[in-house]
Amino acid sequence: MDSALEPVFAQVLRRNPGEVEFHQAVREVFDSLGPVIKRNPQYADAAVLERLCEPERQIIFRVPWVDDNGRVQINRGFRVEYNSALGPYKGGLRFHPSVYLGIIKFLGFEQIFKNALTGLPIGGGKGGSDFDPHGKSDAEVMRFCQSFMTELYRHLGEYTDVPAGDIGVGGREIGYLFGQYKRITNRYESGVLTGKGIGWGGSLARTEATGYGTVIFAEEMLKTRGQSLDGKRVAVSGGGNVAIYAVEKAQALGAKVVTFSDSSGYIVDEAGIDLALLKDIKEVRRGRVADYAAERSSARMVSEGTVWDVPVDVALPCATQNELTGADAKVLLSNGVLAVAEGANMPTTPDAAVLFQDAGVLFGPGKAANAGGVATSALEMQQNAGRDAWTFEHTEERLTTIMVDIHASCAATAEEYGHPGNYVMGANIAGFRKVADAMLAFGLI
Ligand code: NAP
Repeated sequence: MDSALEPVFAQVLRRNPGEVEFHQAVREVFDSLGPVIKRNPQYADAAVLERLCEPERQIIFRVPWVDDNGRVQINRGFRVEYNSALGPYKGGLRFHPSVYLGIIKFLGFEQIFKNALTGLPIGGGKGGSDFDPHGKSDAEVMRFCQSFMTELYRHLGEYTDVPAGDIGVGGREIGYLFGQYKRITNRYESGVLTGKGIGWGGSLARTEATGYGTVIFAEEMLKTRGQSLDGKRVAVSGGGNVAIYAVEKAQALGAKVVTFSDSSGYIVDEAGIDLALLKDIKEVRRGRVADYAAERSSARMVSEGTVWDVPVDVALPCATQNELTGADAKVLLSNGVLAVAEGANMPTTPDAAVLFQDAGVLFGPGKAANAGGVATSALEMQQNAGRDAWTFEHTEERLTTIMVDIHASCAATAEEYGHPGNYVMGANIAGFRKVADAMLAFGLI
């Protein structure tokens, strides 16, 4: 990190003790920003970095609900409204037992730059709860979502703060959350949540957008080396929304995807993942990877190690933070990996990212590579504002253009700062400049 940024980073550590994922996310951005701060002293003069690291508003609340046995349960809810320089706060809700303030702040901080990169008018925010939807009945999930929204609704609005899904929050949860918002406010305010069902204000291609966008970004990176996904072997981690549609798009571009996973283990399928079976198990039956192995003779389930042990040309981490470590990177490198694109947020540990970059592997950071999800959420907001519904083809075309533009802007910015091919630097600087310039324009607020 440039010495000019060290005191600001030290202050972040002091003011946010114990929030290790948040520290990691800030460091990753700060590591890129030295040259921008040198060229633009106005940012330091106006303390833009210090202001960027401090969320505009942080809400923490109790979520009481009753389980199917009549017992009272208590969870903790969060919404961090991080930065509204470019538009209303926008970012998903995560329901997972590992959620605490440091996770929500890391995700919210990343979201500021990601949303700026899309070129659409959205600020950055994130929220969630330590509630675990696994093993809960639909009725329990509904009661939890209703209680969660009974507090959160007062902070939301289509011009204020617009949540969406993330880990543990999909179409079912968004339905319960939207229903409760509508009931409390007596307003059919479609643009207050994204990821809605197609019949009630949702956008076609939103479900597919993050996974598709990640693969489009990977394809754009490969093109710079005269290559493509066609005929490549691909490893995907995770078995949720992002992973499933990364598999779908990679297969559509001619790749052979040989892995996916969940927290119980991973699948290797040398015949290529059977997408219909994967969707049925994960989207319909809410099953586990073992169910896939039981129903497909070419597949085996592995409980030890990670998908990164499987030799591939392209790696798409699509599960969770810090799931691809330095040790994993060494295995991927020894197997000749060409490209890594992050479908998940911060899935690659810092040492692994450095190993990839030093080895000349194409490395697409999440805030660029997985921005297709939030970009399509912004397209959903556009459709809601216009009382309109676009076709799948039109929406996918917009998504593709946005991803191609994000890739081009990251590549051009990296080049401008003397680090061609460094997408981490390109993404961080391009996103930062947009937000910082808007913050300067608004004065000290
Ligand atoms: P999801 O549908 O809930 O799926 C998450 C998948 O990752 C599940 O298969 C889950 O397995 C696995 N997973 C989660 N935590 C894990 C852990 N600690 N260890 C091992 N496996 C774990 O969530 P998603 O929407 O696909 O999100 C995946 C990643 O993409 C997250 O980093 C999210 O922030 C990021 N992202 C999502 C979107 C979006 O539009 N959804 C947009 C941008 C970025 P289990 O079911 O066994 O827990």
